[in-house]
Amino acid sequence: MLAGLGDVTSWQEELYVRLHQEPELSMQETRTAAEVTRRLASFGYEVLQVGGGVVGVLRNGPGPVVLFRADMDALPVREATGLPYASTRTVVDHDGATVPVMHACGHDVHVVAALGAACLLAERRDTWSGTHVALFQPGEETAAGAHSMVEDGLVDKVPRPDVAFGQHVLTEPAAGEVAIAAGPVLSTGACVRVKVFGRGSHGSMPHLGVDPVVLGASIVTRLQTVVAREVAPGDFAVLTVGSLQAGTKANIIPDDATLLLNLRAYDLTVRDRLRAAIERIVHAECDASGCPRPPEIELYETYPLTDNDTEVTARVTAAFVDHFGEHRVRHLDPVTASEDFSVIPDAFGVPYAYWGFGGFTADQEPVPNHNPGFAPAMQPTLATGTEAAVTAVLAWLGRPAVSADR
Ligand SMILES: [Zn+2]
Ligand SMILES: [Zn+2]
Repeated sequence: MLAGLGDVTSWQEELYVRLHQEPELSMQETRTAAEVTRRLASFGYEVLQVGGGVVGVLRNGPGPVVLFRADMDALPVREATGLPYASTRTVVDHDGATVPVMHACGHDVHVVAALGAACLLAERRDTWSGTHVALFQPGEETAAGAHSMVEDGLVDKVPRPDVAFGQHVLTEPAAGEVAIAAGPVLSTGACVRVKVFGRGSHGSMPHLGVDPVVLGASIVTRLQTVVAREVAPGDFAVLTVGSLQAGTKANIIPDDATLLLNLRAYDLTVRDRLRAAIERIVHAECDASGCPRPPEIELYETYPLTDNDTEVTARVTAAFVDHFGEHRVRHLDPVTASEDFSVIPDAFGVPYAYWGFGGFTADQEPVPNHNPGFAPAMQPTLATGTEAAVTAVLAWLGRPAVSADR
């Protein structure tokens, strides 16, 4: 079937350039979703709109159901790749601000690869049997999209898959290679908003107030002990204070301070331990400062763990080795980034595998995802993503070739 890849390459490259030039922010992917809808319908898929995402279903006889997911959103980043097809778009975000927007995480690659796979599977229905579910989700970057589809009844609207797949273009491995591993491959992540309440006062009269600036600084310092002193040395955890905001002027002690924290872990008990430590430390520091009211602690943008099923991963890996050759299949070292992909298989209660594929050739300087200079090589990246998707789906749905004389 992959001999037919040449047929999809030209429209894929054209579509990639267009999507790259017209990126959309999380949960605003209307034009991308319309394009995906139109293409899937033209390939012969039944198409459903679910929670801001698009699902194409291709029923092709008896057999397993395989779900392949791609994400569609871009980021509020001003593109600095220098590419002839660089995005110059600005959009209005959910807070009403005008922001630049760029496919700085490569989700345009994911959309085009998943559409190419859907097209090839539709064209070569004679080589497989079962049902292919091509799912395009919105809002990965804000952890909202997979939840939005599940909340809109995804589980009741599409056939229950036996297995689910997702993939991401990365700076490693090299372009043309895939990387996969069983077990945790992406961390669980969460943001925490902490608001502490002091009592405002004149800067010259600190004894009449409760200073939230000193309190906030004390919380930041004390939080540094959580990973260093409470997490076992062999366990992975990150706790970053990304923002501390309080006050407006040198001679005013403000009323309150707000801290934004980010957590990562590969183990849910470690993550729970981080959360409990944050609660305990913030409350205790507020007590120590004599705050007039308790702090507010709110979790947001929570990402689940991406934990590849052992058997599914073994089967996908064997299919990759068979298709790409051993030298193009790498071990995926756990990535500290997070994904909401697993929300979808978890909603169905089915096993999954998630892998990375390379976007940068040897003569390019690899630039990390989310960087304004993130510019994966169009090829072999699109071809590798497309081939990986088809190969994994066929590892469940493929029929052994029937010889002509039977
Ligand atoms: Zn991203
Ligand atoms: Zn991404």
